[in-house]
Order: sequence, then structure tokens, then C-alpha cells
Amino acid sequence: MTGAGISARPVYLVADLGGTTLRAGWARAGDLTVSGVRRVAVDGITRYPGLSAGELQARVVDQLVRLLRECSLTAPRSPSAVAVAFAGPVGRTGTVVDAPTIWGPRGPELPLARILGREFAVPALVLNDVTAAGWRYAASDGGEDDDYFCMVTVSSGVGNKVFRRGEVLLPDDGRGGEIGHLRVDFAADAPWCDCGDRGHLGAVASGRGALHAAGVLARRFPGAFARSVLSAACAGDPGRLSAQQVAAGVRSQDAFAVRAVTPGVRHLGRTLAALHTALGVGRFVVMGGFARAAGEPYLRLLGEEMAKAGGFLLPPAAAGGLLQPGAPDDDDGLLGSLRRLERSGSPRAAIPKPAFPAAGTS
Ligand SMILES: [Zn+2]
Repeated sequence: MTGAGISARPVYLVADLGGTTLRAGWARAGDLTVSGVRRVAVDGITRYPGLSAGELQARVVDQLVRLLRECSLTAPRSPSAVAVAFAGPVGRTGTVVDAPTIWGPRGPELPLARILGREFAVPALVLNDVTAAGWRYAASDGGEDDDYFCMVTVSSGVGNKVFRRGEVLLPDDGRGGEIGHLRVDFAADAPWCDCGDRGHLGAVASGRGALHAAGVLARRFPGAFARSVLSAACAGDPGRLSAQQVAAGVRSQDAFAVRAVTPGVRHLGRTLAALHTALGVGRFVVMGGFARAAGEPYLRLLGEEMAKAGGFLLPPAAAGGLLQPGAPDDDDGLLGSLRRLERSGSPRAAIPKPAFPAAGTS
């Protein structure tokens, strides 16, 4: 392609708004790379725990618009569309239904796609972040193959989305794919979930859950802890341990670390086995910071636990084969949003405001 051809191509703005980090950049239509990426800490509940959900919403929207504008200034031309991967359930029209990790539990709904469409005067797409990631891993044939898979994220929380033939399987209000808020631990002192309830899968099987479990086990079995790589990593003080260190311990197959995460992995494995047994999902793409850091030993353990629970359809040797690691980077939200924009064709021609008509709920 000539230089003139490249410069005539539309430019998109994309962002990934998570519980702790907001990233944004720009990309040319036809390129699957994002340029000029800027990263800031989110002005949400983590930074301002005393503010109301409404105040946090206003701050986060301001921050998102500001960052996208900064990216737009470094782009070679004005954007033709904006897409945002968002850490919470999002309805078909791009309205955020809930965002416990960003503005706390049960905040008011936020028509984010409409707000961004008005701010930038272009079509705006807001997708749940796990849904966005799914577009990165979906078969690129537009759904002609029977591509049937489940995205699973294991990071500070746990979430999922099921895709089939180029469609994400969700109702119009976007409520679904929230296995992280299924209660799996019914003990009175089960760990708290970020939604404000106890014992949810996201509190037990996430990176946070693994850290909590390692701390409890370290206090119960100080001798075993002292012999583990986790003790060496935190100078013997379980209070200083991080989820990242627990993940690294699992990756190095440290017996104590594996023992600490196994109950949480078991709950996740049972939940995935239920999905497989109920729906026949063909593959599970396991993404998220904790799963990525814990690596292949973590996926193997998860496969073993899935096989124990889902033996009717899943002989032990087959379960691990259903699990596929996500890409070894942190770009699922940005690249998936971009790919979703590319799939919708020319936004000028095909995308009415305020939301996208075809191919899916976010
Ligand atoms: Zn929850």
C-alpha cells in the first residue's frame, strides 16, 4: 500500500478501562496494532474509596474522555470510531450495567457509548472487557466455522463469556458471563467478593483469592510455609506476600503454593466443567494476570479439577486439551476492541449511533 493509501485509512481510538488501570491508544483500520498507548491509574474506588458511586462515575468518565482526547491528538487524523473495553457488564446499546471494581457495588447505570458518541461525534462502542478479549481469540472467518469457545479470566476477579460462530451469547442487557459472582464457599467467614458478598468464585479462585488462601495456610502451617518459595519471596512475612508471588510459586510447582491455590482452582474447575457439560463448549481460553503468571502448571491443575467434576463428557486425558492459554501480554482489551471494530466494517457506513446493530451484545 502506498503512503497516501495508508494515510487515507480511518483511524480508531481504543481504550481498556479496568479496575486499576486505564489504557488508551489509536489504530489505523486494517492494522491489528495499537499505537501511542497511554496508561494511567483509574480514578475509581481503589484510589478514592470515600467517594459515592455517582462521583466516581463522573471522575472516571472525565478521565476516559481526557485520555482518549490526548491519544486523538497524537493520531494521524481524526477518529472514525471509538471502542472501549470495560470491566463490568455492558448492555447491547453500550450502557454499563454494573462496575463494582470501578465505582463500587450497585452504582447507577451509565450510558457510556452515548456519552462517548456525543463527546467525539463518532460511533462509539462499549464492550465488556472479557467480551472484547473474546473477539481477539474468535476465529477470523466471520463465524462460518463452528467456533464455540468460552473466555475465562483469572485476575483480581474471575469472569467468563461464551462465543459461538462470531456471536457472544448474552441477553440484550449484557447480564451473563459472571461466574465470578457465583457463590461457591458457604462458610460464614468465606472471603469477601468485590461485589460486597461472601464466598463468590471471584473471591476464592482469583489472584486475590489465592493470596488470601496462601495467608491462611501460612498461619496454619508455619513450618511448611517457611520451607516454601513463598516464604523466601516475602522474607518470611505472609502479610507482605503478593498474588504475583503466589502465581510465581505455582509456576515453579512449589508444593505449598500449589496446595494453597488448589481449593480455589477446584471451584473454578467444577464451574467450567458445568459449562462444558451443559453447553458442550469446545475450548476454554484462560486469560488474566494471575493465570498468565501461574503458567502451564496452573492450567494443568485446572484441567485435572475439571476432569474430576465433568467426567461424563470429559475423560481425564481430554480435559486439559480444552484449555488454551491467552496471549502472553496484557493487550486483550485493546486488541479485542479493535478487532470488533474491524469486524463491523466501515463505521461510517455500517454503524448507526449510539450503538452497534449487528454481531452482538457486549
Ligand atoms: Zn461477587
